[in-house]
Amino acid sequence: MVRENLETVKGIIRASCERAGRPESEVTLIAVSKTKPLELVQEAYEAGARDFGENKVQDLLDRIETMPSDINWHMIGHLQRNKVKYIVGRVAMIHSVDSLRLAEEISRESVKRQVETDILIEVNVAGEESKFGVSVEETASLVEKASKLPAVHVRGLMTIAPFVEDAEENRKYFQKLKQLSVDIENKNIDNVNMSVLSMGMTGDYSVAIEEGATFVRVGTGIFGERAFA
Ligand SMILES: *Cc1c(COP(=O)(O)O)cnc(C)c1O
Repeated sequence: MVRENLETVKGIIRASCERAGRPESEVTLIAVSKTKPLELVQEAYEAGARDFGENKVQDLLDRIETMPSDINWHMIGHLQRNKVKYIVGRVAMIHSVDSLRLAEEISRESVKRQVETDILIEVNVAGEESKFGVSVEETASLVEKASKLPAVHVRGLMTIAPFVEDAEENRKYFQKLKQLSVDIENKNIDNVNMSVLSMGMTGDYSVAIEEGATFVRVGTGIFGERAFA
């Protein structure tokens, strides 16, 4: 089932890229395996998936231990500062940086371990009360401050769009995040590039790709419904 789903999702990614006139190589699919049994994660790996996303530190560590080593692991969930030390050097990217204090902690741990860590700034584009992320207005300032920290590199922006019935409702938020990333790129801040836009989930990744996503994070579409979110 996972293999078939993965093919379906890749087909939709391909079609979305075509519609948007973008090369398919610009979009990386992150298989969001959170809460899913290991067998399904292995099935996705065997079907060719090499980028996986988890939202809890302990689950991430367990999977890094058990799965093959040629996987890019993405930390996509809210990250507490006291847990940074467990994942620095072990993940390809941290998508959920939403405060300077968190960025500082990542920097400190990275220096200590002599690794470089790529991060994304999580933006609450829709301004939802329930969501983590910095506001659109605060984003550039956080990027600038984070750019000065040793051993961390801001690679772009991430957002979790609202949960909606009709993906079209989220188009404006994807456009807003894209515009924000262009504005920040134009500031030419040292040690910052805005090459990554991590946006789009099962319900709306097609629209997100049309609006410039370079990472889409798909869970349900690959692994089926989760019992708990
Ligand atoms: C769970 C999760 C996803 C995947 O959601 P689906 O709707 O199952 O595709 C993507 N991004 C984040 C940050 C998540 O927590």
